[in-house]
Amino acid sequence: MTNQKSSPDTYDTLLEVKNLKTYFKTDAGIVKAVDGISFKLGKGETLGIVGESGSGKSVTNLSIMRLIPSPPGKIVDGEVLFEGKDVLKLSESALRHIRGNEISMIFQDPMTSLNPFLKISTQMIETIRLHQDISKKEALRKSIDMLKLVGIPAAEERVHNYPHQFSGGMRQRVMIAMALSCEAKILIADEPTTALDVTIQAQILELIQELAKKLETAVILITHDLGVVAGMCDTVCVMYAGKIVEKAKTEDLYKNPSHPYTFGLIQSVPRLDKAHDGKLFSIEGQPPNVIDLPPCCPFHPRCHKVMDICRTQYPPTTDLGNGHEVACWLFDDQKEQSHE
Ligand code: SF4
Repeated sequence: MTNQKSSPDTYDTLLEVKNLKTYFKTDAGIVKAVDGISFKLGKGETLGIVGESGSGKSVTNLSIMRLIPSPPGKIVDGEVLFEGKDVLKLSESALRHIRGNEISMIFQDPMTSLNPFLKISTQMIETIRLHQDISKKEALRKSIDMLKLVGIPAAEERVHNYPHQFSGGMRQRVMIAMALSCEAKILIADEPTTALDVTIQAQILELIQELAKKLETAVILITHDLGVVAGMCDTVCVMYAGKIVEKAKTEDLYKNPSHPYTFGLIQSVPRLDKAHDGKLFSIEGQPPNVIDLPPCCPFHPRCHKVMDICRTQYPPTTDLGNGHEVACWLFDDQKEQSHE
């Protein structure tokens, strides 16, 4: 079941990423972790960024927040326009205002973001007061309200607990409460449920979806799991080797997956509504080494539809209509007719 609110065109653009390139210099060569990607996020929209590990999805979001460790990383080109202002050109103080106030992040493991030595109340009050000019008492009240909102029982008492006194799922709820307490316009959730068991995963995703709707927050959900995207995203970008290979409304992507990699990803999602022989489909081969990639289609060694041109030139992006775009030679009229 998809959660289509409306066409991406009907959202007012809140964030626009244009030709973003983030590279890492290593002893073995240049890693083009993100290599010329572009997408838009509208107010209240939920956008999924999907791909295997190393595809560039997390680096994309760290780049949006300007959290790339430098060196070895560097944003070498592009624009990240938040409400028309280029985040990449902002001063440190303007950037601090955007982080937390306007764009918040939830990470995979809450223990990497929560300080184990400080009570939740101390951490939440500090975070809220960093971004809002309110008293400690008001910030405590707000912290309790947010904990209630994310379903923490006995929030008045629990707010004074330390992180280790919460279970994994509850800690993730605390992180969501902290991220949303500043009323940010965009919430970036980077694999927010990977460390949790399956039942808790579903609850947390449902919670993010519900709160985002209630608070009218736009969400960027980073995941390797297309099943998760189907349940909660309006639009999807599929990333492979640092590039967006397919972008579409979720419903269109599932009905008409066009890039052979997307097709493979969808085939490998377990389905309860379809009979299978017990074996799950998997895409053969390994993701490419992204160091000094040649200018060809990086998926070609794994692609069952590979043509000669795929081995020598990167495919242009073809517009399939209704915001559906794909970077694959199969859809380009100019390609050499050289099927093997
Ligand atoms: Fe396959 Fe060629 Fe399309 Fe790459 S460009 S996905 S190799 S058909």
